[in-house]
Amino acid sequence: MIVDTFRHQGMRRRLVDELRKKGINNELVLQAIADVPRHLFMDNAFLEFAYADKAFPIEAGQTISQPYTVAYQSQLLLLEKGMKVLEIGTGSGYQTSVLYKMGAKVYSIERHKVLNNKAVALLQELNYNVKLFYGDGFKGLPSFAPFDRILITCGARIVPPELVKQLAVGGILVLPLGPENEQVMTTVIKKDADSYEMMSFDKFKFVPMLENKAP
Ligand code: SAH
Repeated sequence: MIVDTFRHQGMRRRLVDELRKKGINNELVLQAIADVPRHLFMDNAFLEFAYADKAFPIEAGQTISQPYTVAYQSQLLLLEKGMKVLEIGTGSGYQTSVLYKMGAKVYSIERHKVLNNKAVALLQELNYNVKLFYGDGFKGLPSFAPFDRILITCGARIVPPELVKQLAVGGILVLPLGPENEQVMTTVIKKDADSYEMMSFDKFKFVPMLENKAP
């Protein structure tokens, strides 16, 4: 059952104010964070922390990203309503929901079946119309390509070549790039069929992206 009280909504407004102070200024992103009931994406034990700007553990040894990180990545996407977006690492489905509320047509892949199942059930209950897949995001979703935007929500050692292929010309890929202990938030802008340009931003720490590990 979905319970979203005035108290929860008030806590989300405070979270939005906090994110503004930390430099997030994209109104589409902030409105989506104000809309999505983050407490429903967390285990009971963490409910009282749902609107703290912190990452928390979810099942399968993974994490729900910190709201600031979700906002930061969403802002770098330069998303416009109606765009087709591929997310790698559905996890709890929270970031997926933020992209949906920003008006994107969202496709998201997760390689842990238990997380995929849970996200499918919750997003259906919330009536969020997104397409969730169980599989290896390192390979992307070739049959649904091209995508206007791609967002990787796990730490990638390299820019996954299949994902660049599946990006539309003029499209943007946002990913935390680097080794396990620390990644640099990076955007890859596809210039034409075989060239792209990269830009580096702040440092973050994500759970690792698994490569070529069949789920
Ligand atoms: N966007 C999520 C963040 C989850 S953490 C949220 O808002 O909750 C990153 C997720 O990436 C984990 O669930 C992990 O299982 C998943 N992941 C790691 N490597 C992957 C891969 N190759 N394909 C798909 N998902 C992957």
